[in-house]
Amino acid sequence: MPEEIYDLVIVGGGPGGLTAGIYAMRAALRTVLIEKGVHGGQVAMSAEVENYPGFENIGGAELSQKFLQHAESYGLEMVGREVLSIEPGLKHHTVRLDNDEIYRAHALIIGTGGNPRQLNVPGEESNYGKGISYCGVCDGFFFRNKTVAVIGGGDTAAEEALYLSKLATQVYMIHRRDALRAGMILQNRIEKECKIEMVWDTIVTEIKAGDEGVNGVALENVKTGEKKELPVDGVFIFVGFVPNNGLVPKGIQMNAEGYVMTDDKCGTKIPGIYVIGDLRAKYARQIVISAADGSTAALAAAHYVESKKATDGDECQLPT
Ligand code: NAP
Repeated sequence: MPEEIYDLVIVGGGPGGLTAGIYAMRAALRTVLIEKGVHGGQVAMSAEVENYPGFENIGGAELSQKFLQHAESYGLEMVGREVLSIEPGLKHHTVRLDNDEIYRAHALIIGTGGNPRQLNVPGEESNYGKGISYCGVCDGFFFRNKTVAVIGGGDTAAEEALYLSKLATQVYMIHRRDALRAGMILQNRIEKECKIEMVWDTIVTEIKAGDEGVNGVALENVKTGEKKELPVDGVFIFVGFVPNNGLVPKGIQMNAEGYVMTDDKCGTKIPGIYVIGDLRAKYARQIVISAADGSTAALAAAHYVESKKATDGDECQLPT
């Protein structure tokens, strides 16, 4: 168990956390990054990324690897465990891991992102892994030459429908309104992709399954009230995002949707605790913005740690 007090603990190894790691190491902060799963977060699950500057088109897993390698090149210490709790303190903050290890640090950066939102319809939970998925890159391969439904109308649903159209014979994109929320470039591509058929103004009321797994969806047109069943082999659900705010300590303000309110330095109401990436309340959630949050928070943390050490009297002493 590390006895020392780190300058900075970063929780979460997505684009924000890894960028924070790079900036923290460059600022010579004694830093550890803790990530329970795969580095790169949601990006690692994305088929292609086309809007991260410097890369016209790059696979999500490859971009995540590049973030990770860049952070590793600075010798950033990384721990592959789950964080169970974060306890703020006046002298230092405490991070408890699932193996009972405790890390103490002057500053913390929380970048735990979020998870896909569930539809919450009958048949969804019971058929997870039997034809229901929240990740096209992970599971699309199983639906080669099959028929799938993609639920949602945002950027994620549009990107995933396009990805799945390369594998499946038919993709039904089922959206509860008559216009997509996704950006225009994606909308244009969807329109041109003959394997994607839009099912507008329609909600899924049940996911049907037999012994072999998912075999259809029950649909309801929200304008006409018409009900029907659509036979499909798989259902991919992309209806938004729920922030992972379970580790956010009491006293830190969140908005009604559970996103953390910060100042322009990504700072929270608790001195030395910063929140970055998709967990932070802001206008847009993009990889480049998470990375920017990471750099902002690490620079702010470096300044905070320096001032704190000076106040605590932990300054460098010249040998006598
Ligand atoms: P999102 O933008 O919140 O879109 C969620 C979609 O699901 C919306 O079309 C919404 O319908 C629909 N929806 C929500 N709840 C539903 C329900 N219960 N039943 C049926 N449909 C439901 O989420 P996202 O697409 O995951 O994107 C999250 C953020 O990441 C966004 O800011 C997005 O721009 C960003 N993102 C960017 C990129 C990129 O730039 N390459 C890629 C992926 C994600 P309504 O439209 O009617 O609300």
